[in-house]
Amino acid sequence: MAYVAIENLYKTFPKSRSAKATEPLAPADPIGSAGAVLKRINLTIEDGEFMVLVGPSGCGKSTLLRLIAGLESITAGTIWVGDRKVNDLPPKQRDTAMVFQSYALYPHLRVYDNLAFGLRRMGADLRQVLPLSAGEQGAALPPTPGPDSNQELEQMLAQTNRWQTLLAALTRPLPVALRYQSQAEQLIDQRVQAVARMLQIDSLLDRYPRQLSGGQKQRVALGRAMARNPQVFLMDEPLSNLDAKLRLETRAQIVNLQRQLGITTIYVTHDQIEAMTMGHRIAVMNQGQIQQVAAPLDLYNTPANRFVAEFIGSPAMNFIPVQVQAPYLVVHEEFRLTLPSPWEDRLRPYDRHSLWLGIRPEHLSLALPAPKNICAQVVHQEALGSETYLTVKTPSLTLQARVPPDQAVALGTEVWLAIAPDKLHLFDPATDRSLLQS
Ligand code: ATP
Repeated sequence: MAYVAIENLYKTFPKSRSAKATEPLAPADPIGSAGAVLKRINLTIEDGEFMVLVGPSGCGKSTLLRLIAGLESITAGTIWVGDRKVNDLPPKQRDTAMVFQSYALYPHLRVYDNLAFGLRRMGADLRQVLPLSAGEQGAALPPTPGPDSNQELEQMLAQTNRWQTLLAALTRPLPVALRYQSQAEQLIDQRVQAVARMLQIDSLLDRYPRQLSGGQKQRVALGRAMARNPQVFLMDEPLSNLDAKLRLETRAQIVNLQRQLGITTIYVTHDQIEAMTMGHRIAVMNQGQIQQVAAPLDLYNTPANRFVAEFIGSPAMNFIPVQVQAPYLVVHEEFRLTLPSPWEDRLRPYDRHSLWLGIRPEHLSLALPAPKNICAQVVHQEALGSETYLTVKTPSLTLQARVPPDQAVALGTEVWLAIAPDKLHLFDPATDRSLLQS
């Protein structure tokens, strides 16, 4: 296992389809930063960490993952996997394994051979992925019986002669139980069986991908990555093709596997619920740049800027333009709110300035008429059973509030909403940064 460090990374694609990826960029702008799809990315993913890259479509998540995997060339910057600089290494030598949204299984190979494929191509490097002791294999995989030392294992692999290899290849079209297994194949078999048991696909080993459901294909794709025992898992929206229930189950399964194996994982999604529930930390991206990196609840509670505040949380945060009257007052034409005293220092430089007040739907509550509250009309209601979302309108605002199900109100009703003063956020409109960050 290893950490991954990304330093000052830029990626620019050539402008036209006909231009080559290697076409030199203008001398004045050697990294093409103006048109770059990734700009000055700095990110360290710790050894064993589950890092989620999240952001809207086109923000550069997949490109960043593909650069780490070696499937795209870097325009500028450095990528480290452990203490190895991998910028110029081909994908095979980076010791990463990628799981794609499309599964990318070999359709003509049985599940067993899809799992074994990467191991067979490793030759003598097999010893790197078949550690000998239980401790080295991580708690989740059972110890591989067989040779007692790496030296013995190497001898076994060397002794696999051409005749054995040929016989193994000739019998490969047969169901797994009827095949000839060379000594190397026996070791691969132990690994494949262990991974299949872990993912509960051991009953599917003789099937072809076309005979599997979407969820089963996804588990085979995961298993193929796991079998190689990589230093880093790279996952690009691996759950997108699954239905809602299966998505939930597979999400939990990936999280459990990652925690058991402790393999450093970088996971791309545009789904913020996936991001919030899976990652140790989340990197929120927008327009080729990282906006904030933090633990899920830290992102939720203290977003660094308006983009993060709006992107994380569903339904999204409400934004209201207000004017500051230092030391504690924020004023809108429809309400005046006194903030708790800890805001004093932060508000002082903004006296008489405009700010964005951000408030999440769950921090607006039904209340009595008062100058600090907002008078609005209910124009839409979504009763979900466990909670109800109200969309309300005032002369100048449209807001969403989340209320308990027993507080649902009829459409057209006039309500008063209170803002929880200890839960609000303030953003500087000039920079979009949260005042809590300055
Ligand atoms: P999505 O969630 O929709 O997959 P994403 O955040 O993963 O989006 P990327 O696929 O990384 O976004 O794309 C980032 C930007 O780079 C997009 O504007 C895209 O059009 C552009 N891009 C990606 N690959 C290429 C390419 N091979 N050539 C030119 N532009 C590309």
